[in-house]
Amino acid sequence: MKKKLYKEEVKEKMRNFDEWFTDHYTAIIIVIIVFVLIPAYFILGKYRLESDRSKLMQKWNDGIHAECGGKYEYQQMIAGQSWTSYVYRCDKCGYVESFPYQMEFYDPEKD
Ligand SMILES: [Zn+2]
Repeated sequence: MKKKLYKEEVKEKMRNFDEWFTDHYTAIIIVIIVFVLIPAYFILGKYRLESDRSKLMQKWNDGIHAECGGKYEYQQMIAGQSWTSYVYRCDKCGYVESFPYQMEFYDPEKD
C-alpha cells in the first residue's frame, strides 16, 4: 500500500515535470545558450587566440632564425584585400618567412 502510494507520487511528479518542461523548454534552451554556449564560445576563442599567439612568438623567436642562428631582416609588406603579410629574410642562410605583423613592433600583450 505504501509502495503503491510512492509510485503514484513519483508518476505525479514526473507528469508535473513533463508539463513544466513543455511549458518552459524555450526558456530552458535560452538559458543554456546564454549561460553555457556563449561563455564556452568566448573561452574557446580566447584559448585559440593565445595558442596562435604563442605559436607566432615561437616562430618569430625574437628575430632569430632557429635553424641557423641568423637574424631575420625585414624585406617587404605584402597586402591582400583582407590580410597583410610581412616578409623577413634570414641574413645568414637566406631563409624567407612571413608574419602577420611587423614583428619588431609586435606586442602580444597589447594585441
Ligand atoms: Zn637562417
